[in-house]
Amino acid sequence: MFRVRPTDRRAAPLLSRPTGFRPGERLADLVFPPLCLGCALPLAHDRPWGRELCPECARKTDFLTGAKCPRCGRPFEADRAADHWCGPCLSQPPPFDLARAAARHTGPLAEAVRGFKYHRRLGLLPGLSRMLAAAAVDLDPPADLVLPVPLHWRRRRERGFNQAWLLTRRVARHLGLPARSDLLRRIRFTAPQVGLTDTERRANVRGAFALSPHDGVDGRRVMLVDDVLTTGATARACARVLKKGGASGVLVATLTRA
Ligand SMILES: [Zn+2]
Ligand SMILES: [Zn+2]
Repeated sequence: MFRVRPTDRRAAPLLSRPTGFRPGERLADLVFPPLCLGCALPLAHDRPWGRELCPECARKTDFLTGAKCPRCGRPFEADRAADHWCGPCLSQPPPFDLARAAARHTGPLAEAVRGFKYHRRLGLLPGLSRMLAAAAVDLDPPADLVLPVPLHWRRRRERGFNQAWLLTRRVARHLGLPARSDLLRRIRFTAPQVGLTDTERRANVRGAFALSPHDGVDGRRVMLVDDVLTTGATARACARVLKKGGASGVLVATLTRA
């Protein structure tokens, strides 16, 4: 089971540096200054680790630093509310233990995610990965391995890459954890989830995922990475398979969430 390290939630996790941080990264920053994911302006070197937006774009971003459901990460509107379980989790807890995202799927960050995923703007990958790692760095104990939400091979051929796997590799490196793309597989080709209702999404991904017959996740804490959490139907379908395969914990980490 995952817990989040008790910290001042407004200060963390952006102030903590992941364990997998490499000193060479700072040198690389000097040679190729990191650019804002929103407007491509150079970012300050002394910014908190994982803060990949300039002050102007950060103002237009809804960071998930306020009160949220400790289970699914759903943010609450009331500014002074304390963390508490949301209605849907109380009535039907999701098969994953925790879901974390950096921000809501709006503004410059949502634009960056779309640019990366649909327009192959791969230059955004390092910044997006740092941001995702920073949103999932405060886990105690940490995950044992990081897996992407898998794409069906036909979709991967259409798109040319699995955006979740590209993110997973870098996030795992930042957190000092192993990444695996061969454990969880998409065994059924499904229509895109965009434009479907929650019920349709759930039906669409039912039976779409399976574990590798060669190596499992028995007794391991798994971090599942994707770019966006919309209704959570895909994450739930994956988590169900992982739990059935014996995973002792499943954390869903995404860049943005609806
Ligand atoms: Zn900017
Ligand atoms: Zn919830």
